[in-house]
Amino acid sequence: MLPPGSFSEYLALLNLRLDAAEKITLKLFSLVWSESFGARLAIREKTQHAQCAQCVKHKHILRHLRGDLKARRGQQKLYAEHLERQYRDRVVYWRARSCSRLKTPLPSNHVVVAMILDAIDHSKFKYPRSRVFASKELSTYIRPTMDVMGCLVHGHSCFLALSEPFLPKGSSFCADLVLHCLHRLARHGLDLRGVALHLQSDNTSKETKNNTLLRLSALLIALHRLKNIVLCQLESGHSHEDIDQWFSVITSVLQTHHEIHTPAQFVEVLNKWLRDPSTRVHETTERHAFLVESTRDWKTFLAAGCKSNHLVGVGGPGAPHVFAFDRRSDLGLEDEDVDSRFWQRLGATPHPSDVVLRTKQYMSDPDSSYSRPILYLPYAVAVELAQQGAVPEGQF
Ligand SMILES: [Zn+2]
Repeated sequence: MLPPGSFSEYLALLNLRLDAAEKITLKLFSLVWSESFGARLAIREKTQHAQCAQCVKHKHILRHLRGDLKARRGQQKLYAEHLERQYRDRVVYWRARSCSRLKTPLPSNHVVVAMILDAIDHSKFKYPRSRVFASKELSTYIRPTMDVMGCLVHGHSCFLALSEPFLPKGSSFCADLVLHCLHRLARHGLDLRGVALHLQSDNTSKETKNNTLLRLSALLIALHRLKNIVLCQLESGHSHEDIDQWFSVITSVLQTHHEIHTPAQFVEVLNKWLRDPSTRVHETTERHAFLVESTRDWKTFLAAGCKSNHLVGVGGPGAPHVFAFDRRSDLGLEDEDVDSRFWQRLGATPHPSDVVLRTKQYMSDPDSSYSRPILYLPYAVAVELAQQGAVPEGQF
């Protein structure tokens, strides 16, 4: 399924790449489409998802430039550049996914694990689910909906975390889910110390784009639990990925079950489906749906433990889409290469395992465009937190 648009729009983008003599007519385009692609591809007419503001802007301007061919061509070029850039971002994710499935160590002797997180449209998880709600008397009956978060660890495992609506869903929930997935990977024998984690999510502060996940990532790196972590987000409006396709399959599976009365029965139905070997053929280590009844308050715990180090500008327009955490020694950085103003005030002494944060605007930008490394979490602070043996409190 191609993103929403019309034949004319797709043709205009194609013609932009061709010389004047090679231009294709709408008639020829339609003919080739119907003969070769019509049975395999379709253009989505409209989408339920919020559209990318850049795309909306380009399309709107193009509509108003019908009479000015030169200006229209210039605008189409800008629009094509935007679409190509978002495609290059996806390629970065697809590359990480392939590396994760291959499981072979890279020349630097670490393995890539690509994990993608997202939430399912919870309207599909109303309970109780029964044929009786088709009756007129019960059609307006208000039912609670469960929240469902999916996580694909490419080449390894996949998880579905179901929870009741009253359980707080925020950065702490997401942190707990990421840690649970990592814990399960370790339980199945993967040595996480050599893992470069690529954590993909939507461009929203509700999931990974928040200070709680940044602090958690830094803590895991400082304590040598992982080799490095890169938190990546595709641009808003272009973040529909393989996990959303998986969700639509889950929705179809649920539609074949008419009587599911409790959250536990939802879990049972999903686990039965996940046990089928034809489900997620690459994720063979573990496929599991489970009910989350409580989470830990990682937000408060990490804010206090990391001495309230707070990165501003994490979300909103112009915010970066890539946050990379490494140990300073792994990047070969000297003291003067790192911006450590915040911690100098608190008197932290430099250490090779200090965690530095680098950001860049888009996933496909070259590594040379990374911002100047910031000392995000000194090793001494992480060790102090670990030695205290403190754990976050539960929240229900
Ligand atoms: Zn766009």
